[in-house]
Amino acid sequence: MDNEAFRAHAHQLVDWMADYLETIEERPVRSRVAPGEIAGALPPAAPGKPEDFAAIFRDFEQQIVPGLTHWQHPSFFAYFPANSSPPSVLAEMLTATVAQVAMIWQTSPAATELEQVVLDWLRQMIGLPDGFTGVIQDTASTATLAAMIAARERASDSLVNDLGFRAAPRLTVYCSAEAHSSVEKDVRIAGFGRSNLRLIDSDDAFAMRPDLLASAIEADIAAGARPAIVVATLGTTAAGGFDSLRAVGELCARHGIWLHVDAAWAGSALILPEQRWMLDGIEFVDSFVFNPHKWLLTNFDCTALYVRDTDQFVDCFAIDAAYLRTREGDRVTNYRDWGIQLGRRFRALKLWFVLRSYGLEGLQAIIRRHVALAGKIAGEIAREPGFEILAPARLALFVFRLHPPGLDDEARLDRLNEQLLEALNDSGQAYFTQARAKGRYGIRFSVGQTATEDRHVEEAWALIRETAGPLIAEAEAA
Ligand SMILES: *Cc1c(COP(=O)(O)O)cnc(C)c1O
Repeated sequence: MDNEAFRAHAHQLVDWMADYLETIEERPVRSRVAPGEIAGALPPAAPGKPEDFAAIFRDFEQQIVPGLTHWQHPSFFAYFPANSSPPSVLAEMLTATVAQVAMIWQTSPAATELEQVVLDWLRQMIGLPDGFTGVIQDTASTATLAAMIAARERASDSLVNDLGFRAAPRLTVYCSAEAHSSVEKDVRIAGFGRSNLRLIDSDDAFAMRPDLLASAIEADIAAGARPAIVVATLGTTAAGGFDSLRAVGELCARHGIWLHVDAAWAGSALILPEQRWMLDGIEFVDSFVFNPHKWLLTNFDCTALYVRDTDQFVDCFAIDAAYLRTREGDRVTNYRDWGIQLGRRFRALKLWFVLRSYGLEGLQAIIRRHVALAGKIAGEIAREPGFEILAPARLALFVFRLHPPGLDDEARLDRLNEQLLEALNDSGQAYFTQARAKGRYGIRFSVGQTATEDRHVEEAWALIRETAGPLIAEAEAA
């Protein structure tokens, strides 16, 4: 493709992009394709001869777009949001064009230094104290893995990196049973072994019980193990619970355990001063991760990891390879030493565009709106006969279920709510996902898309009531 064609096609794509965002509400939120349908429509091998851009783009529209689930749809209430925004998309275009590999300072001084500056802006915006230094990672899963590796080395006096696990004491890891699945995955990858992960039960508000954490730690120490890391969650994925950093942190301090905080979703809400309650006990924390790619209008992927003891952290990952040495030496930051990847995307650019385009106040207004919308609709659902709230809205997530009067068989209630969820999602008008809250199957209502307004939430609630009607009648007849 020559530059003239590139220019023409780029203009054409920008028009498509703006049209897509303008008309996104006309599309079904969740893709309606069947498994295998997309792959089956594509040729089994790459073309031998060059193809026209027009043909490629036509196939994008006809074959690929129907297989998209529209994450930016304002009626996307599933999972957690992965919201984006026009300034972020524009920055991604530039990122793709300049195609930096920000592995060391010299390979992209701007990417390195913008990342340092923007992550410190972000640190101040979310109220993390001085002394935390940030790095952008691809996902929270990877960032938590990096924290686990650092904790592993601290607990083993670097023996695992030097000699392997057999030289070290048995190391144990703790999180609540409500913690994200990535914690267990990271435990496996970091080599702790699944049997050394303790899942601590939570209380009625879905927070890790410090008394049970204390007894698990003491039992492990008594059995000769060395507790390495506790992962506390702010904003658990199923039901939006918040572990107490103070209660958990005091235990970690007493036993010299690394405290990592997974605030993947809820961290963005810390830009609101009224939500800083969740940081009580932050002085005990060694590392903290959250995802601007979830709730801060920045395209996936962009995870912010903050670490307190950066020397110790970087020591785990730094490799002195002759071909990566540069004359700047220690005067610069080389982010290749701050995690698993060598090559890194220039992700700070989109964050910079977003923070400047909206300003702190613009972003606060959006997150405040989401929190208020979720609270309002949760209140309406709580007051509606035949519905109940399983997990209250503390930020912009709550879990509810249909519970017709007189129907108390838990297995039947689970089935009824599964049917409701599938019917809602099949309608194409909204998209929700499920959760188990204290063993009960519920529907998660997660508000957080950039374009979500009152009417989308109200329409979703109307859709839930309409869809539930016939299901209740059926259940009563059965
Ligand atoms: C979404 C989420 C994760 C995983 O995030 P990725 O960036 O996709 O790895 C981890 N923890 C919590 C609490 C989450 O909500």
